[in-house]
Amino acid sequence: MADHYDVLGVDKSATTDEIKKAYRRLARELHPDVNPSPEASERFKDVTHAYDVLSDPQQRERYDLGPQAGFGGGGGAAGFGDIFDAFFGGGGGGQRQGPRSRRERGQDALLRLEVDLEEIVFGTTRDIEVDTAVLCETCNGSCCAPGTSPQTCDICHGSGQIQRTVRSLLGNVMTSSPCGTCRGYGTVIPNPCPTCQGQGRVRARRTIPVDIPAGVDTGIRLQLPGQGEVGQAGGPNGDLYLEVKVRHHDIYSRDGDDLLATLEVQMADAILGTETTLQTLDGEVEVELKAGTQSADVITIRDRGITKLRGTGRGDLKIGVQVVTPTKLSHKERELIEKFASGRRSAAPELSQFQQGLFGKLRDRFLHL
Ligand SMILES: [Zn+2]
Ligand SMILES: [Zn+2]
Repeated sequence: MADHYDVLGVDKSATTDEIKKAYRRLARELHPDVNPSPEASERFKDVTHAYDVLSDPQQRERYDLGPQAGFGGGGGAAGFGDIFDAFFGGGGGGQRQGPRSRRERGQDALLRLEVDLEEIVFGTTRDIEVDTAVLCETCNGSCCAPGTSPQTCDICHGSGQIQRTVRSLLGNVMTSSPCGTCRGYGTVIPNPCPTCQGQGRVRARRTIPVDIPAGVDTGIRLQLPGQGEVGQAGGPNGDLYLEVKVRHHDIYSRDGDDLLATLEVQMADAILGTETTLQTLDGEVEVELKAGTQSADVITIRDRGITKLRGTGRGDLKIGVQVVTPTKLSHKERELIEKFASGRRSAAPELSQFQQGLFGKLRDRFLHL
């Protein structure tokens, strides 16, 4: 995290007046009304935060003492404040010194994302719409009406804490609790921003482009760092998580990185063999059926499955054959088949062990979809 003095471009010994002047100069350059670029907006946030701290003598004193005084601040050091909160209970227990920052990290969000099988074979990009909180453009996260600033709390004099003496079995003990007037912030906002009611953020619908990597599967969560809601008072954004659900496909099912499908083959084609064109997710593929093709034969088309999420390459496309026996025969066809049968010494049907081949497994999977 950049030093607040560096951010404002002033000396450690700068007077309050010099700090104010430096802030005004930078604000004229970076305010979103003047400079709409995202970099400027980001810098303006930092500059405003630095000014908020350094323009308040008590906050400045505490900042000068360093982070052990309980100053999380924004930017890279925000995590420190979070850890502090986790250990000492956020609201400022007895251990914690000094006011807490109004800037808080935004919440993470979890959304469901339904994708089609076609989309995950190669991966895709898609815009999704999210209802979230974004930075208030009126106050740019300062929470104050334009032209006003937070004021040091009269009750706790900026410390954010109220000290009390409590009588206990061990004698009189000093305890401190968060100031009720400023809710522990050390400052109050006499003129809240009218757009965001002093929250520094407003609800909005955002469109976010999402990279859906090839090979994702149902249940996988995609993390989009910094795409959650913006924090209170312009605090850093939370993360957005998308939980993937792959929609059922009418033809293809999935076995790891392989794609599975069934091909119905007419009896005569199975006996004589044929060539056919299949419409796959990769476009048309020529397939040769050998003479004497059996039900449960599997045709494997290499590298036409799903692109692997981890590693390289693709799975295979596996097509289970099902030979279709005709059920309605014309008089003529019946005669031909009878002729065919009479020319062969046909063995009587015989029992053998139940076939639990690959095709059987494929069918089981289909039934469970
Ligand atoms: Zn506002
Ligand atoms: Zn207070």
